This record gives sequence, structure tokens and C-alpha cells, in this order.
Amino acid sequence: MNLSRRNFLKGTVAGGALLTAGTAAEARPNKTMPPEALGLLFDSTLCIGCKACVAACKRVNNLPPDPISEEFPMWDAPLDISGSTFNIIKVYNSGKANRKDEEVDGYAFMKQSCLHCVDPSCVSACPVSAMIKDPVNGIVAYDPDACIGCRYCVAACPFGVPRFQYDKALPKIAKCELCRHRIPDGHYAACAEVCPTGATLYGKVTDLGVEAHRRLALKPGEKTSFPRGRLGGPDWSYQGVAGKYVQQVYGEKELGGTQMIKLAAVPFDKLGHRPLPERSYASISEGVQHTLYKYLALPAVVLGVLSVVAKRNTKHEDDDDDSSGRGRK
Ligand code: SF4
Ligand code: SF4
Ligand code: SF4
Repeated sequence: MNLSRRNFLKGTVAGGALLTAGTAAEARPNKTMPPEALGLLFDSTLCIGCKACVAACKRVNNLPPDPISEEFPMWDAPLDISGSTFNIIKVYNSGKANRKDEEVDGYAFMKQSCLHCVDPSCVSACPVSAMIKDPVNGIVAYDPDACIGCRYCVAACPFGVPRFQYDKALPKIAKCELCRHRIPDGHYAACAEVCPTGATLYGKVTDLGVEAHRRLALKPGEKTSFPRGRLGGPDWSYQGVAGKYVQQVYGEKELGGTQMIKLAAVPFDKLGHRPLPERSYASISEGVQHTLYKYLALPAVVLGVLSVVAKRNTKHEDDDDDSSGRGRK
């Protein structure tokens, strides 16, 4: 039997098409958010870029500084999240950059940290359940004792959040866990606790969503009250004015939703948040895996395809033998 490379590739493509068709039928729906899920509302129009949240995050998570250079080892000036920075405030600027929350000749701030996805890719990709989504509060936690350092979560996260501590002798994955270690002591996310303007606000995600839509319904410049710290908690509110919001709550629908939701006056794609589908990547990739392995479908399909290719080649050989035999007579 002569299994040519061309025929093998043809067979593989046919098998792939079969599998793809099956996968479309088998993909699972997005997971849903627990009713008591906790999260953050980040309102870019209220952020003044003070970075108190960056410093507080480091303090409560015992994270070392990210120095500007080896010459100034104590100057903490992280440019991005990293193995030692879970939370960062980034700056958008355009042209003269002298008008806050304007797309042209303006500037705006954007928080970057784990969004605690409703249907997280990092949890789906982890082969040893070292990334876990809490079934009650929905916080996506990390278990360093279970982690084998494969970094699948790093590759899988659509927001580029988990970072591997390459510089450590015993590296771990680094990411925000919504300060879950502080909850038993009556505390909450340090970034929200210290935020002087309420730009980062902590609470139940359903309540934060209501607050976000209340703000979107305001007229730009309209006087209103902004809660600070923890929504529904004892923290104080203050009087301010509504921003010129883009009519979108980022994180409400993207990839099945996230437990950190965001408001801004500059379009989100300018703030590093590209448009994303509503279907979670985890639901798609798990659908593919389950289809491939359901009832050992993959080996069966491959075996079937190879059998067809082998049979066809055997028939060609028989035909060749017949014709060459006739020629000898
Ligand atoms: S503490 Fe609040 S206002 Fe200051 S940078 Fe962080 S989010 Fe913005
Ligand atoms: S943002 Fe990334 S690390 Fe955070 S929960 Fe979502 S997939 Fe996981
Ligand atoms: S919730 Fe805690 S760990 Fe997460 S960004 Fe805020 S301060 Fe950092």
C-alpha cells in the first residue's frame, strides 16, 4: 500500500472538516454569574491618575517595587502589570493632551487588572485547577500549591492579565484576586478602599451594574452623588458632575461578561479595550475538546479517514497490477 503525503493530507483535511461540523453542534453555552458575585466598577471619568490604588494593591499583597532602573531600586514606577504589579493605571493621550476625557487633544486614565471573567479562559485552560472561580462570589483565585508552571493561563487570558514570575527562583503566576484574603477581616479590595474619588468602586456586580447605568442616563455636567469605597457600605458619597460617557458598560457583555465593569468618556478601543464577542472563548474551546474526545470520537474519525485513504490506494495498486500484468502477456 502506498499512502502518499497528498492523500494523507486530503484525509486529514476531510477529518478536520467533519470535526469542525461536529464541534459547532456541541459547543456549550456561556457560564452565568453567581447572584452574589463581587466586583469593581471603574469609572474613567472620575479617575485623577493619583495611583493610590497601585500603591495600596502592592502594600496589601506584599509586592515589591518595579524599579525604573537598577540605579533607583526603591522607585516603584511600573509601566504595566507584571509578576510584582497586579494593578496599574494607564494613560491615553492624543495630540496636545490637555483636555481630560477627550478623544482628540485629550487624555484619560484606564485601570488594568484581572477582570474576574464570568466564564474565564484561565480557569478553562488550567489542567490542574490551579485557577479557580469561586461559586459564590465569582472571584477568580489562584492556588500556587496546585500550579505546575505550565503557563496555559497566561496564553489563554484574552486580556493579557496573568504574569509569570520569571525572575523568581520559585516562580508563581501573579494576578489580582480581588483582595479575597482581606474579606474575613471585614476589608475589601484595597484599590477601591483608598480611591479618593470613587473611580474604583467595590460591591455586588448586579448593584454596580445598576449604578453604571444610572450614570449613563445622566446628562453630561449634571450634578449627582458618587459613592466611594464599597457600594452600600458605610463609606461616604460626594457631589460631582456626570462625565460625557460613551454609552457602553464595558464588561457587561464582552466574552460573557466580567465582574469588573468599566465606564469611560473616550471610546474603549482607544483605552486598550478592543471590541469582543459575547460568546466566551472558554465555551468555544471546551466545546471543541469535548467533541474531540466524546466517545473517543477523534481516534475513530482518524481511523476512519485513514481506512478510506488506504482502501483507495490499495484499489489503485490493484488496477496498476492488472494493467502491468496485461502488458506482460
Ligand atoms: S486611586 Fe482612584 S483616582 Fe487614583 S488612580 Fe486609582 S482609580 Fe484613579
Ligand atoms: S481577566 Fe484573564 S486572568 Fe482574569 S479571570 Fe479573565 S481570563 Fe482569568
Ligand atoms: S482588588 Fe486587591 S489585588 Fe485586585 S487590584 Fe485591587 S488592590 Fe490589587
